[in-house]
Amino acid sequence: MTDVDLFEAEAEALESARRVLASGTGELAHYRGALEELVQNYGQLMRQSRRLISRSDRTERELNQLNSKLKQLSDELDYKARHDNLTGALNRGAVFDSARRILEQSSMSLVVLDIDFFKRINDEFGHPTGDAVIRELVNRLRKALGGEGLIGRVGGEEFSILLAGVPLDEAVALAETIRAAIAGERFACLPSRPVTSSFGVSWSAAQGNFEDAYARADEALYRAKRGGRNHVEREQ
Ligand code: GH3
Ligand code: MG
Ligand code: MG
Repeated sequence: MTDVDLFEAEAEALESARRVLASGTGELAHYRGALEELVQNYGQLMRQSRRLISRSDRTERELNQLNSKLKQLSDELDYKARHDNLTGALNRGAVFDSARRILEQSSMSLVVLDIDFFKRINDEFGHPTGDAVIRELVNRLRKALGGEGLIGRVGGEEFSILLAGVPLDEAVALAETIRAAIAGERFACLPSRPVTSSFGVSWSAAQGNFEDAYARADEALYRAKRGGRNHVEREQ
C-alpha cells in the first residue's frame, strides 16, 4: 500500500504561510494570499474532521449492535448446550454439572422417574404422540414442583429432579405428589389411556458423590418397576 498524505493540501498551505511569515517582507498581498489559502484549507479540514467523527460514531454504534447480537447468540448457544430441545428441561450433562455444583454447597435429594411401558405408547400411538407425552409430562413436573428443584431429562423417557437441601422424607412425599399428578389425570395428547411413571429417590450429604447418589436412586427406581410400576421407592 502506498503512503498517501491525507493532509497534503493543508500541509502545503501551512508551509507557505510559514514561509510568508519567515520572509518578513511585510507585503500585504503576500499575507492576504497565505491567509486565504489557510482559511480555505482550515475549513476543508474541519469538514473532513466532522465527516470522520460522524463515520467513527456510526462505526462504534454498529460495533455495539454487533457486540450485543454476539452476546445474545452466545447466550442462546449456551442455553441450547445445557437444555433438551424437546422439553426445555436440563439435558443430561447439565444435570450432572448442576448436581455436582449443588453438592459442593449443600445436601441434596435426587428423584429419578421413568415413564411406564413407554415403548407401548410409541408402538400403539406413534412416535409424535410419544414426544407429546414427554412434553406434557415435563409440564406436569413443572406445575407440581411450582418452581422448586431442577428438572432434567437424563434419557429418552427418564427424568431427574434435583432438590437442594431437601431431606429424603420430603423428597419422597414430593415424588408421591408428582406420581399422583401424572397418573391421576389423563394427558390431553393421549386421552384414551392413563400415563404412569415409576420413581426412585436418594439423598446425599454435602460433598457426596453424585454418581453414587444416581446409582442409589436408579436402584430404587428399578425396585419400583419390579414392584408393579406407578410407584415411588426410596434408597435402602
Ligand atoms: P418400563 O416400564 O420398564 O420403563 O418400559 P418402557 O417401555 O418405558 O421402557 P423401554 O426402555 O423398553 O422403552 C423406552 C422407549 O422410549 C424406547 C425408545 O424408543 C423410546 N424413546 C426414547 N426416547 C424417545 C423420544 O425422544 N421420543 C419418543 N417418542 N420415544 C422415545
Ligand atoms: Mg420406561
Ligand atoms: Mg427408560
